[in-house]
Amino acid sequence: MDLNFDREHLWHPYTSMVDPLPVYPVVGASGVYLELEDGRKLVDGMSSWWAAVHGYNHPYLNVAIERQLKKVSHVMFGGITHEPAIELGKRLLLMVPQGLTKIFYADSGSVSVEVAMKMAVQYWYSKGKPQKSNFLTIRKGYHGDTWDAMSVSDPDTGMHSLFGPALPKRFFVESPSIGFYDEWKDESFEPMRKALAEHGADLAAVILEPIVQGAGGMRFYHPRYLAELRRYCDRYGVLLVADEIATGFGRTGRLFACEYADVSPDIMCIGKALTGGCMTFSATLTTDEVALSISSKDPRAFMHGPTFMGNPLACSVALASLDLLESGGWKSRVSAIEMQLKRELEPARSLACVADVRVLGAIGVVETKSPVDMAFLQKAFVERGVWIRPFARLVYVMPPYIISQEELSRLTSALVDVLSLVS
Ligand SMILES: *Cc1c(COP(=O)(O)O)cnc(C)c1O
Repeated sequence: MDLNFDREHLWHPYTSMVDPLPVYPVVGASGVYLELEDGRKLVDGMSSWWAAVHGYNHPYLNVAIERQLKKVSHVMFGGITHEPAIELGKRLLLMVPQGLTKIFYADSGSVSVEVAMKMAVQYWYSKGKPQKSNFLTIRKGYHGDTWDAMSVSDPDTGMHSLFGPALPKRFFVESPSIGFYDEWKDESFEPMRKALAEHGADLAAVILEPIVQGAGGMRFYHPRYLAELRRYCDRYGVLLVADEIATGFGRTGRLFACEYADVSPDIMCIGKALTGGCMTFSATLTTDEVALSISSKDPRAFMHGPTFMGNPLACSVALASLDLLESGGWKSRVSAIEMQLKRELEPARSLACVADVRVLGAIGVVETKSPVDMAFLQKAFVERGVWIRPFARLVYVMPPYIISQEELSRLTSALVDVLSLVS
């Protein structure tokens, strides 16, 4: 592969064009393995960022795409519909938290967040309260890289100061101090309750990732926090937007993380694992109340419509991915992964460089005391036959659900081993 061309001309996520970090040439992937150009095979610990939950090159998913490819690969969704969109919609409504009845298909996670935020604002406009147009969120969140998604992501990692006054100003409260496994304390909800009381009149919605904060800090917070949030959002007349783009489809041990708190949001974003990682696709779901209100006040339509909305290939492969989830016993797979991660990452806790080890569902996180040298760690992991991509102070794995016990042990032992080198 012409890696020089790549180096000179191709931008990778969050990288420099002057001093780019090394990239590894992948020529194929199958099951939990990524195959490098030199023939080496790496156990994938990232699921290509939460997405490839069934592993790579899955025959059932491939067939779904091939079959649809022969019918129609893409057609505009304006004024046209198709079977994959309808069937996927039916299936999603059976799975998602109660009350979510209306679906907007979008083309990436960030866009589904933009759509959610526009829905919330348009809802209050339709209610004659256009002043309710701002958002409240928690620190350490991540909602994507587009403008509005960035505005509600963590102010530091979301680089608000860099983008300065061009970025809309949102309200932030501290990230929940109460961990998933801690004993509940009412005070831990106080900052959120105060912010809702103070700013409720200006707020269209609270937006947050339920239970697991992903790319903004890999933190797991108490389900009761979410349950209280639902209660107080109702009390102060604020919509609740749950960004389940990372947490959805079983990753946390529940199909959707909202289930831990038995909560239904007013608006929910899904993406990433929706297509089993095969294609870019997302959806924003909402209630009758929000959808019907938006649609009954001028302009009597929801004002959004991406070119590749409802792509038939993506809908087909999403439907096939949901088949696999159901037939593959995701729940017992994820809980087996959780138990093994807890057991095998525990030794990392005693390393000098390690601040915390935490596991929830098929997510294992080792937080270090100071930021890691990503290029060094990446190389050390590849040398040990695994694909783990750390960032800042986080070294973490979220493997495909199909990973075997032995393959998972390769990930965890490489992780502990490499961190002991830098301790
Ligand atoms: C990845 C992610 C997004 C953004 O999705 P993209 O497909 O990268 O645009 C939004 N929210 C959460 C919670 C995510 O993990």
